[in-house]
Formats: sequence, structure tokens, C-alpha cells
Amino acid sequence: MIGRKRGTRFARLLGLICLLPVLVGVERPPGLGDVREVRTWSYPDFTRVVVELTEEIELPKNGLVRLKANLGAGRPERLYLDVPGIWVGRRFESGIEVGDGLLDGVRLGQNTLRNTRLVIDLERYDHHRLFVLPSPARIVVDVYGERRRTRADSTGRLPAELRKVHTVVVDPGHGGRDPGATGIGGLREKDVNLAISKKLAQRLEEHGFEVVLTRRDDRALTLEERTAIAESADGDVFISIHANASRHAQTRGFEIYTLDANHERHSLEVAARENRVPAASLDPLQRALARLQAGELASQSERLASLVHENVIRGARQRDRTLTDLGIKKGPFYVLFMSSMSSVLVEAGFVTNQRDAKLLRSPQFQSLLAKQIADGVDRYRRQIEAGPAASARLAKGAAIARRNDGKL
Ligand SMILES: [Zn+2]
Repeated sequence: MIGRKRGTRFARLLGLICLLPVLVGVERPPGLGDVREVRTWSYPDFTRVVVELTEEIELPKNGLVRLKANLGAGRPERLYLDVPGIWVGRRFESGIEVGDGLLDGVRLGQNTLRNTRLVIDLERYDHHRLFVLPSPARIVVDVYGERRRTRADSTGRLPAELRKVHTVVVDPGHGGRDPGATGIGGLREKDVNLAISKKLAQRLEEHGFEVVLTRRDDRALTLEERTAIAESADGDVFISIHANASRHAQTRGFEIYTLDANHERHSLEVAARENRVPAASLDPLQRALARLQAGELASQSERLASLVHENVIRGARQRDRTLTDLGIKKGPFYVLFMSSMSSVLVEAGFVTNQRDAKLLRSPQFQSLLAKQIADGVDRYRRQIEAGPAASARLAKGAAIARRNDGKL
């Protein structure tokens, strides 16, 4: 074990020796961006590497290149990516150790004067996905593979349709220095979101769900942090709570979103606001999303959206018969596509509409919404669990395995 580690360090050093000669006695050229931060997250199914940059970049066409292990040279199997227009110098020369059974570590080095090379040293590998996100500029690499078991064995994660619905992650949108939309009488979206979310959490607990809130108070969280909380909690359902805004004071109503990469004018405006990116940045984002496979989770999320939507419209109209139903929509929301569980984003109403704002401000209406959403999630759970008996038995075994997993 020690020998292997030492071998890896040696390989790292060797890799850097190959990267660095160009730096000796060389000044940094003008006009380059920097690497702001490198982060890694270990999820049940994959490991995510995020490299945050100070400048938006265009990736080279050949993308991420996979190199087989060279055992003679003591080099592990690795992926590399050349990032043009970025200066990293020697900041990350010792590398970042991951050691999660999938990745050994991550290194960055100055490959040429105007090029930074990202190297991911692998322990295991099956496939990867690579995308670039704007605002802030980020390179995201997800590496999938069967993790080398570092501790007790586990069965891994089942497909969504075989999983029990046990843990619900409730995500109150915005917070802290990010107020979200501001509406009538200074009504702040972040406050509405938090109030509804807390009530929703309580309702869900009454239904016997385990509930995780991404925030419990008025604090700022990045979209990445929100999904990291959700993934670490091993959630089965993710609900992001928001309130809407419009330039048109008369626009009002309830709508719910699932993830999609297709164009739709109105969704794009909502997505731009909720992602906190300018609308112009949504095109590259959509191109990145279009390459990703929504997979089996898409249909589960749509089912969840439709049950929650139906319950909310039916319930909310008991309070206000004129409440507008804006339906179920799709949009390119970071917070949804980052997540590996059934996920929806609720737009509870318009803070910019007189009548909606009054409702959203009212604790009674907030409670009603929370109750109707929670009932919708409960119906979703019952539908999933009413699946074929064989699936149910499998799911039960997996739920126990997953609970044991959590204790490792
Ligand atoms: Zn929002």
C-alpha cells in the first residue's frame, strides 16, 4: 500500500517535471486568466472535479484525453485536458489528493506559456462527462467507474425506479447576499422561499420522510453547494423552492419545472434569473446540457412534477379561485441538472403581482402550499412503492444497504 502511494507521488513528480521546464526564467504573458479554485466531490456514482476560472474559455476540440497506465514509468491511468488562455504557474504543483477509490488525485500545471494542463490520475475508470459552465467560468469533469472498495463493501445505488423514496432534500432558493427577485412592498424572494421550505420540511417529516434543508437561515449558497448537500444526504427527491418575477405586474400564477435543455422563451428568462447568469450565457449552457443524458431520472422527475402540480393547483384554488395555473415546464436549471435524484423546481407565485405577493406573504397560504406539495411527494412515494413486487423487494434490500453505507 505504501509502495503504491509512493509510486503515485513519483508519477506525479515526473508529470510535473514534464510540465515545468517551460516556466524556468519565464514571465507570465499578459491577458491570461487564472485558476480560482479546484474542488472535488465524491458522489455515490461518480467523482466530480470542478476547476473554477476567472475567465470564460473555449475548450479544445479533442476535449479530455485518456491515457493508459504506463506501469514501466510508474504512471497511473489518467485523463488530461488542455485549457487555453489560463495561467496556473506552480500553484497546484503538489496536486490535490482525492483517494476515493475512483480518483487518485488532480494536478494542474503550466503546459505551455498560454496553456494550463489539467491531469486527473485515475484509480478506476468507466466513462466521463465534461462540460463548461459560465458565471463563474467552471470546467466540470464527472468521472464514472466502479469504485475500488476502500472500506466495507456496498451494493451501490439502484436505478431511480427501484429506489424507495426515503429522503427529501428541500432547497430554499437564494439567500444571504442573493435576495432573488424583489417584488411588491420590498417582498424578497429569499424570505418567501425559506418560509415555505421550512413549513414544507415539517409537513414532509409528518409524512415520515427524512428531510434535509440546504439552508435553514438567511445565508448564501452556490448552486454547486446545494447539489453537494443533496448528494451527500443521498436524497431520493430534490425540491427547489422559488418565487417568480415578471416585468408585467399582471402576470401571476404557479408553475413547476423539470430539467430540460430545449429552447423555450419564457423558461429561458426564468432559468437566466434562477441560475444567476445573463440570458446571453444560456446558449453555451444549453449546448453543454444537450450533450448530457437526462437518463431514467427524467421520467421520474416528470411524474413527481405532475403529482405536486396537481395537488398544489387543487389545494391553492380553495384559497384563491382565480389562481393561475402556468403548468409544468422544462428549463435548463443548474440546480436540477447537477442532481442525481428526481428533481423539480417550484415557482410558487409572482412577488411582482399584487395578488400573488399578498398570498406569498401570508403564513396561512405558505402552510397550504407546503401541505399540498408534501401531499404530492407522498403520492409520488406511494406510486413508486406500488411498483412490481420484485422491484419493491430489491428496493428494500438496497435501502438497508444504503443506510449502512451512510454509517461508513
Ligand atoms: Zn429564485
